[in-house]
Amino acid sequence: MLLSPPDVGPLEESYLLRALRSGWVAPIGPDIDAFEQEIAERVGTRHAVALSSGTAGLHLAMVALGIQRGDAVVVPTLTFVATANAVTYTGAEPVFVDCLPDTGNLDPELLDRTLRKLSASGRRVAAVLPVDMFGSCADYDRILPICAAAGVPVIEDAAEALGASHEGRPAGSFGRAGVLSFNGNKIITTSGGGMLVSDDDILVERCRYLATQARQPVPHYEHTETGYNYRLSNLLAAVGRAQLRRLDAMMARRRAHRSRYAEVFGATAGVRILGSGDQAANCWLTSIVVDPEVSGWRSADLAAHLAAAGIETRPVWKPMHLQPVFADADAVLNGVAERLFATGLTLPSGSGMSTEQADRVCAEIDDFLHDGPRHDAKAGFPRARPSHVGGTADGRATSL
Ligand SMILES: *Cc1c(COP(=O)(O)O)cnc(C)c1O
Repeated sequence: MLLSPPDVGPLEESYLLRALRSGWVAPIGPDIDAFEQEIAERVGTRHAVALSSGTAGLHLAMVALGIQRGDAVVVPTLTFVATANAVTYTGAEPVFVDCLPDTGNLDPELLDRTLRKLSASGRRVAAVLPVDMFGSCADYDRILPICAAAGVPVIEDAAEALGASHEGRPAGSFGRAGVLSFNGNKIITTSGGGMLVSDDDILVERCRYLATQARQPVPHYEHTETGYNYRLSNLLAAVGRAQLRRLDAMMARRRAHRSRYAEVFGATAGVRILGSGDQAANCWLTSIVVDPEVSGWRSADLAAHLAAAGIETRPVWKPMHLQPVFADADAVLNGVAERLFATGLTLPSGSGMSTEQADRVCAEIDDFLHDGPRHDAKAGFPRARPSHVGGTADGRATSL
């Protein structure tokens, strides 16, 4: 039982075959145009640009904003590495900011303090990149005014959040631009792919141009600046269109799994589910957070029990400020991301997981809750050992 495998079937097959037979086997074609239009409609933006990955979308947004070597870009420390890499590609430097305990989303108050500190030090802050963690929107009611007051543009990393919303507004629509991912493990997939969404005509035009090798509009190949090959294949756009038609049903499946987990852990002291999981969330991944001092067991103990039964789990993201590659980066911390990394565990959440499979996962969890902790206690637990940190499992593998 995998964490979040792709959920594809006959509909994707028929869309893909139709695209293949149409002859549009290229990074241009009618399925791309239609997929862009359908995503723009869903997210409520004027434009959408289909791309080869979410990472490409984040990178293009950075380039299009004119971000330069030495600029500071604020990134939540609790995220997948792609968010921070997009900053590094431009020669700018990520400044990591910690998160809120309930959702794992960017802490607005810490963000405010960070922007003031950076501005006082004379540093140019070129952008803020909030992440909609595991499919729950960041707190834009507070984040947007803070960024506006500081005069810093927001690029929303909505890679995990297609279908989610905040105060009735769809994920992806909050910043100057938003970025979605269709990687194999995301809520919908094109096997690999992404989309930049925005209302900003000029920014979107520049991203399209940069994504097609910055080719000038003349008959021969003319280039005045460095571009990228970041367009999505028409075949993959066809798969994306089929997936998008199933988005609401797939979100409902993930929500059902989340409810099952809430039930099975119901009265377990020291265990909570990360995020509210309210109707605004897309329930991409369900994670539990375990306080071992209260529960008498660590999240890693449950992970080991489930692994023995062939069930995949994973710690939540290893914070960026703990990653060796970002050892020199600035970070403004409150300890929450490190605690979530040490105590969080993501459970199988895929929309393709059947009710019978979910039953089996829940039965194993139930077994563990009744036998596992007692067994561990005999072996000398509880003791507050750091779980995961420095171990073999790290957040990296969550990207397929
Ligand atoms: C998956 C993900 C990305 C990167 O998307 P790709 O399509 O895999 O390049 C970026 N940010 C976050 C938060 C993600 O989860």
